[in-house]
Amino acid sequence: MEALLNKLSEQQELTEEEIVWFLGHLTPELRQQLYSRASKVRKQHYGVSVYSRGLIEFSSFCRRDCLYCGLRRSNSSAERYRLTEDEIIECAAEGYELGYRSFVLQSGEDIHYSEQVMTTIVRKLKLRFPDAAVTLSVGERSEAFYRALYNAGADRYLLRHETASCVLYDSLHPGMSYDHRMDCLRILREIGYQVGAGFMVGLPGQTQRHLAEDLLFLKEFQPEMIGIGPFIPHSSTPLKHAAGGTVEDTLVMIAMARLMVPDALMPATTAMGTLDPSGREKALQAGANVVMPILSPLQIRSKYALYEQKICMGDEPEHCRSCLEMRIAVTGYRMEFSRGDHCRFNVQL
Ligand code: SAM
Ligand code: SF4
Repeated sequence: MEALLNKLSEQQELTEEEIVWFLGHLTPELRQQLYSRASKVRKQHYGVSVYSRGLIEFSSFCRRDCLYCGLRRSNSSAERYRLTEDEIIECAAEGYELGYRSFVLQSGEDIHYSEQVMTTIVRKLKLRFPDAAVTLSVGERSEAFYRALYNAGADRYLLRHETASCVLYDSLHPGMSYDHRMDCLRILREIGYQVGAGFMVGLPGQTQRHLAEDLLFLKEFQPEMIGIGPFIPHSSTPLKHAAGGTVEDTLVMIAMARLMVPDALMPATTAMGTLDPSGREKALQAGANVVMPILSPLQIRSKYALYEQKICMGDEPEHCRSCLEMRIAVTGYRMEFSRGDHCRFNVQL
């Protein structure tokens, strides 16, 4: 076991069999060792900095039907909203005032926001906040869309692969294709974006072998950003009776991803904070190094319900900032307000 942990820490290749064996033989002591090694590696690459990204959840409409998500089109009880161009820019302006220099525009897959609408929004954001990074997380779109948005100034794109098992992927995503999702990730990389992949932990039917496949995919693809969070069942989806993921299992995945992709930017997700009041702090201590405070207007926040009981629903952005700063400080890290680019990307402003 110690030998596998050493292999992981030394960036040596682990086989799928070795990862599965490792996951099956973890003890509480070994978990702690894993977290502290991950934390050490993260410090070697990014010191004590925790990068902040102001999250703007601008539309809860979605054309997809992912079985796990509260925004899926078949969820007729979901309340839908769309923010206007001005509202999106206002959210960013409030974040900019608070010091954030990195914004994430996220939504369901809503084609109301066409290439033209999105390029206008991104251009306006970059004109008004030239020293801020813009990340998009709007799902699977055409190559032309991705290129136009990159040319308009978008810096990064988050598209979790969700699971690297083609069979599991197909069982959770009616009408979607695993190969297409992977093609999107490769196209985004080719265009020049800083690319984010990632997966959920605790999906129904997910085994340790599936998780090993996820880790090996990350190792091969070397994404600039990696989002790993627990699956939390939503009561108006077909997976409402599923058990969902645990904080402990997610921490193991975060720590292993940190050791396998040492220079990745990895958020301590809101889903972790939802399952455990100190879930985000635990994630930071297991290798995560990003936080994503929500900047969306208070009155619509609860409608962006991927899952229920999401935290920070009623907190003003200013309160979120001081709350996160304090939480980060107690873990011994420091909240950073710079663009926080990946270390391979030397962005000249
Ligand atoms: N629609 C875009 C997409 O799917 O790429 C971006 C927004 S989507 C809501 C962002 C992420 O939320 C998904 O990639 C998925 O991993 C996560 N998610 C969806 N439902 C979830 C749930 N019930 N529990 C935890 N995470 C969830
Ligand atoms: Fe839509 Fe994204 Fe939710 Fe899937 S995960 S239903 S694409 S918002």
